[in-house]
Amino acid sequence: MKRIMTFMLATAVVGLVAGCKQNNETVMNNIDKKCVEKTVKALNDRYSGIDGVEERIGRGVGQASALWTVADGTPADFEAFCEENFVADPAERARMAEQLEQNFESLWGCFNKMTVDLNLPIHLDGPEPTSLDELFGAYSPSAHFNDDMFDQKIAFIVVLNFPFYTPEEKNTLGKDWSRQEWAYARLGDIFTARVPADCLQALSAQLSAADNYIANYNIQMGHLLDASGAHIFPDMSLISHWGLRDELKTHYNDGEEGLAKQRMIYQVMRRIIDQSIPQCVINNPEYDWNPYSNTVAKDGKEVNAEPEPDTRYQYFLDNFHAMRQLDHYNPRYPTAIVRAFEEDMEVSFEEIEKLFDNFCSSPQVGEVAKLIEQRMGRKLEPFDIWYDGFKSRSTLNEDDLSAQTRRLYPDREAFATKGMPLILNQLGFSQAKNDFICSHITVDPSRGAGHAWESAMKCDNARLRTRIGKDGMDYKGYNIAVHEFGHNVEQTITLHDVDHYVMKGVPNTAFTEALAFVFQVRDLDFLGYKNDDPTSDAMFTLDIFWSCYEIMGVALVDMYSWRWLYDHPEATAAQLKAQVIKTAQEVWNKYYAQYLGEENSPILAIYSHMIDVPLYLANYPYGHIIEFQLEQQLKCESVAGAIERIYPAGRLTPQLWMRNAVGSEVSTQPLLDAASEALKTLSAPVTEQGK
Ligand SMILES: [Zn+2]
Repeated sequence: MKRIMTFMLATAVVGLVAGCKQNNETVMNNIDKKCVEKTVKALNDRYSGIDGVEERIGRGVGQASALWTVADGTPADFEAFCEENFVADPAERARMAEQLEQNFESLWGCFNKMTVDLNLPIHLDGPEPTSLDELFGAYSPSAHFNDDMFDQKIAFIVVLNFPFYTPEEKNTLGKDWSRQEWAYARLGDIFTARVPADCLQALSAQLSAADNYIANYNIQMGHLLDASGAHIFPDMSLISHWGLRDELKTHYNDGEEGLAKQRMIYQVMRRIIDQSIPQCVINNPEYDWNPYSNTVAKDGKEVNAEPEPDTRYQYFLDNFHAMRQLDHYNPRYPTAIVRAFEEDMEVSFEEIEKLFDNFCSSPQVGEVAKLIEQRMGRKLEPFDIWYDGFKSRSTLNEDDLSAQTRRLYPDREAFATKGMPLILNQLGFSQAKNDFICSHITVDPSRGAGHAWESAMKCDNARLRTRIGKDGMDYKGYNIAVHEFGHNVEQTITLHDVDHYVMKGVPNTAFTEALAFVFQVRDLDFLGYKNDDPTSDAMFTLDIFWSCYEIMGVALVDMYSWRWLYDHPEATAAQLKAQVIKTAQEVWNKYYAQYLGEENSPILAIYSHMIDVPLYLANYPYGHIIEFQLEQQLKCESVAGAIERIYPAGRLTPQLWMRNAVGSEVSTQPLLDAASEALKTLSAPVTEQGK
């Protein structure tokens, strides 16, 4: 979620604006082809003979012209601007890049620091934030950065001299680029769009409304009735869909009673998806509801209840319209779909689709499904996409673990001065590197569950926010802190050890999550426990395998629904609902129905992120795949050695980063092969597994 958070911050602006208007002054792309050709020719004549200059001139002038507005000047002004500001000499261009990197580090580093400071009352444990704190927290110091850079023509100088390359070009040409050429290409990624602030504000308002809708969508479990009129759940309020799903997962070893609960949760989900859920039972403990007959009762008497009026799909549709407003200002990434995939993930829609299709159609899926049936002693049902039985349960008692972590880490200083160095030491970092990393991370007491906040300049620290109770850090808090610390280590290494500031970071959000999980799964090792369960490797593999299978289908439904919306921009919420359900059923029938029973199940449409974080879902399975490939690599290298070798590559494309990291591109094959091995291990009689 790290990336999303930065995006929301960048676009969060105080006050709501109803729409996004265009006026003649801000219309882009009004420099005609003739003027572009004339400018290109003039520059070519002047600088002919310099290596590669022609290609640069063609790209730079063309791309700058696409962003030039009437307010920026006449076509003659454009021509004069290009002639004046194009830098042909390679040494001079290198100096310009260096200056830009230095200035951007100062700007972005300070923007980030200001955001961190202004949010202290909101993020850190302490007195309740006041309304003034909330206003400062919502203020974005960088909101006008893009506008200012274009107004000052700095953005045009960057575009003209450091043109943009598509992800595909980066993947092919980038194989032979020097690090400096890579930095030039990353400079070319900075000013690809010119979205007016009111469009961003409208989008930000829409997304927070959608977020609010989801955050307040709770089901009152104690008020659900079965056919006999019995309440089978205790009183609890569960958020859709995460809370419902997690509750479902807890009933895998509860026999018939557990199964009845799982089936009821599935039925509730179906009512949410097709919006036949009665409006009055959402987030409201006043009514009893039988999700099968869909009848509602108050004080024991049946009452009439209207269904939710497709609100879920209205939010989806409104997200689409708000995001589509940005298309016009994004000549390089002209749809929300290409922005989500090619710009944010740097992987195309088609590549992702192929990767997921390849995985979901593999014969291993059927074999794992069969193993799950054997383990449960029943046929699979659609909700078994959330089968939870491959988690290798620790035999350690959580209370004992908490007692240990509380003793070790009574306060944040203890975690900062003892916990972090101990973890890095166990992973194999040298003392010098250990000291360096730990001195660049500040540990703060968190108000929420915890998070890792990067630094955007070398003279500032990354922040580890962790929750520590009055009597010390409990095991849950420790487990999260270890995950967040993994993020901080990545953030520190990719800021300080990457040779160019504009190359800092990782290719996309999946790569930082992968490292955070590498840390988190080792949390018990750091406490001194050795895992000697011979099946734990196989269980780990099948756990990732089954989660990938589940979330890939969900991501495909999201992707296909967006593609349909772009083909049907006039759709109503009711039409979108029908289409999302149809898509979910098609994906289900193609990859799931044969193993999990029931044709036409719509279950893949239940994910809440489809509504509140548009087009994000594909990141989850992509992250799992990368995590798995990375873990395989860690079997042949020390963790510290691998991190110090791999992460200084910085923000290459995902494919080139993976080649450098594990010797092959992002692929599901290692996971599929490992699943076959794991199946053998787990199918073998217990006595043969050896100790
Ligand atoms: Zn994380």
